[in-house]
Amino acid sequence: MNILEIKKYCATLEHYIGRLDKPFVIDDYVYATDAHNCIRVQKSEFTSNEIEQIIEEQGMKFPLADKIYKELPIRAVIDNGYLSKIVSESLSEFNKKYRHEPEAKCPDCTGGGEVEFSYEDTDSETHYLTGECPVCKGEGIIPAVIEIETGKICDIACAAIIIDKTGVKSDYVKMAADIFGDGEVEVMYSLDTRNPIRMKQGCIDILIAPIAETDREYIVSTKLTLTAQDGEVR
Ligand SMILES: [Zn+2]
Repeated sequence: MNILEIKKYCATLEHYIGRLDKPFVIDDYVYATDAHNCIRVQKSEFTSNEIEQIIEEQGMKFPLADKIYKELPIRAVIDNGYLSKIVSESLSEFNKKYRHEPEAKCPDCTGGGEVEFSYEDTDSETHYLTGECPVCKGEGIIPAVIEIETGKICDIACAAIIIDKTGVKSDYVKMAADIFGDGEVEVMYSLDTRNPIRMKQGCIDILIAPIAETDREYIVSTKLTLTAQDGEVR
C-alpha cells in the first residue's frame, strides 16, 4: 500500500476540496473516503515518512470514520479473483443492455414538446396544426437511460450489483477487488439493506455504502449473492 493507492478513495469533486480530498490518520489507521466508499489501512503498512506526509497534508477528517467500522458478522469468505470476475461480468452485461447518456433535448421538437403537422384536404389545400411531439411524447427531453444493445463499454458510474440483498455501486466493488491482493476476502454485512457492505483482506478494510432505494433500477446483476448455494463461495 502506498499514498497514491489510498488516494484513489478520496473525494475528487470540486465540492469536496479541502474536505475528504486527502487521506487522514485516526489512531492506528489511515483512512480515505469520498463519503460513499471508505478505506482504512493499518498505519504499519506505510513508512514513517509516508505517515508524516499524510498527517502534514490532511484536511478535514470524516468525523465518524472510526465509528462507522462496526463489528459485523462475516457472511462469506470469497476469493478475490472470483470477486473481480463477478464485477466484470456484471458490467459487461450492463454494457450490452444500456447506454447511459445525459438527458438531452428532443431533436424532433428541439425541446419544445410540440411539433407542427400538415395535411392536405380534399380541395388540395394544405393545413398546418400543432400537436404533441410523438418522439418525446410532449416531454421535450429524451430520457437519460436508453435501453438498447450497444456491446460497448459505457459509463459505469450508475451500475450497481447486489450483495445478498444490498445494492452497491459496481465501480466501488471493482476498486476493492483491484486494491486487494490475491487470496481470500471476508465479506461482512448486517441484513439491513440500508447498512454498508464491509470487505476486509488482512490490514485493508473497506466499507461501501448501499445505493439509495431510488437507484435500485441501476442494479445490473444479481449474480453476486454470496449465499451458501453458490458453489464458488466458501
Ligand atoms: Zn419531442
